[in-house]
Amino acid sequence: MTLITNLISAPAQPRDFGFFINGEWRHGREMYERFSPSHEQSVTRTACCTKQDLDDAVAAARSAFDTGEWAGQPAAERAAILLRVASLLRERVDEVAYWEVLENGKPLTQAKGEIAHAIACFETAAGAARLLHGNTFNNLGDSLFGMVLREPIGVVGLITPWNFPFMILCERLPFILASGCTVVVKPAEVTSATTLILADILAEAGLPKGVYNVVTGAGNVIGQAMAEHDGIDMLSFTGSTRVGRSCVKASAESNLKKLGLELGGKNPIIVFSDSNLDDAADAVAFGVSFNTGQCCVSTSRLIVEHSIADVFEALVARKMAKIRVGNPFDPKTQIGAITTEAQNKTILEYIEKGKSEGAVLRCGGTVVDSGLGRYIAPTFFTHVTPSMSIAQDEIFGPVLSSFHFETVEEAIRLANDTVYGLAASVWTQDISKALSVTRRVKAGRFWVNTIMSGGPETPLGGFRQSGWGREAGLAGVEEYTQLKTVHIETDKRTHWIAS
Ligand code: NAD
Repeated sequence: MTLITNLISAPAQPRDFGFFINGEWRHGREMYERFSPSHEQSVTRTACCTKQDLDDAVAAARSAFDTGEWAGQPAAERAAILLRVASLLRERVDEVAYWEVLENGKPLTQAKGEIAHAIACFETAAGAARLLHGNTFNNLGDSLFGMVLREPIGVVGLITPWNFPFMILCERLPFILASGCTVVVKPAEVTSATTLILADILAEAGLPKGVYNVVTGAGNVIGQAMAEHDGIDMLSFTGSTRVGRSCVKASAESNLKKLGLELGGKNPIIVFSDSNLDDAADAVAFGVSFNTGQCCVSTSRLIVEHSIADVFEALVARKMAKIRVGNPFDPKTQIGAITTEAQNKTILEYIEKGKSEGAVLRCGGTVVDSGLGRYIAPTFFTHVTPSMSIAQDEIFGPVLSSFHFETVEEAIRLANDTVYGLAASVWTQDISKALSVTRRVKAGRFWVNTIMSGGPETPLGGFRQSGWGREAGLAGVEEYTQLKTVHIETDKRTHWIAS
């Protein structure tokens, strides 16, 4: 094992990756070169796979599914392999975190935390595999017995984004494997390394050939071809609402594959005057800035009670101004680089729109010049009105907008005032208020007096245009299964046609 924390610099040469089909590494003819967003040097080269490569990967996954060597194993054996993956990952945390940081730009300490979460996902899924079961009905009359079998869907296509390349993969893959399905993964082209490194770990843990396949390359080529592919039974897509919509269309026009969609968000945090303001302000600053706001559940809208708004906004601005931005290998860094040049441009454009639409800039709003890399200071706008673009659009950057409310009704209305419904948080000491808000705000994940907490035991997913279906937990395994209802007659048949 290499203790990567000793290196703490980008590699002298970019690392070349192949792609992984049926337990074997293949080499790409054309390669995509990734430059680290914080070091501005080439760090990895990954293959631009072709549609033929995708066909091969789907064929391998189909064959591994049909032979039953994965789905047909006792759940205890599948669980044992998932537990071995967890233990191998524990030995390779430093290595996986190193490549994640180089491609994504997030702080090393954070990347290691995400790998710890990924390990917990494999362990949870191992337990879930053993508890997955069907159902029986003995209430159909004395001579008819009903059985409901829970069967894996088959070949799953998994398309992941660049913001949490390894964590998002691991919030889905172990649960898919627990269900007995086989998989073809396509990571985001800019952050493919850790998805590829996992292939070796899975193979070492004893996963049969063809169960996990990885094709790399452009979303509009390989991702689109996956969404259209007749050999894929279910597609789990995590990414933008725009591309999610195109996956729905592709599924409708191909084999009507089932879709799991984890899409965008514009997540509110509601702060009542009776909350602990210092704690709440810390949660707001963390919620919007964590992972440079490139987070589907980022807290991008502060909805604060009017009576405390001035004091609270000043507190939030002071905290956000203290966030340490910079080199992701520095252990003191709290937020790192913006992952892609396109995302950097989008965030800066929204900051300009916020200013020109009349919002008041309270902190940030500028790039952070550290000599090397793309960094944006955590940015806070007050006096935002609901019609402004910074109030409605998912910016996917460290940009917070503030709104005021007088009544609980108004807080709920403001919270629901976007097309999304991914996550929300409420801060109050009053349990009745907290529950009233929790039950009426449309969000798949809710936090009361906390933010972004939880584990792989609980399901993840969105309401409204934030997506379909749930990942993680038992619900996340069931999502990749289908039910077969079996009727068993125990008496002799009463004939329909007279003999
Ligand atoms: P994106 O939609 O551009 O890309 C996501 C993935 O889809 C990438 O692998 C990309 O290569 C692929 N892709 C691109 N075009 C495609 C096409 N036509 N068909 C199929 N696949 C295609 O999103 P992104 O910029 O990588 O990620 C940011 C978005 O993801 C944000 O909107 C964010 O909210 C969302 N997201 C959601 C969750 C969640 O759990 N709800 C988690 C993380 C990110």
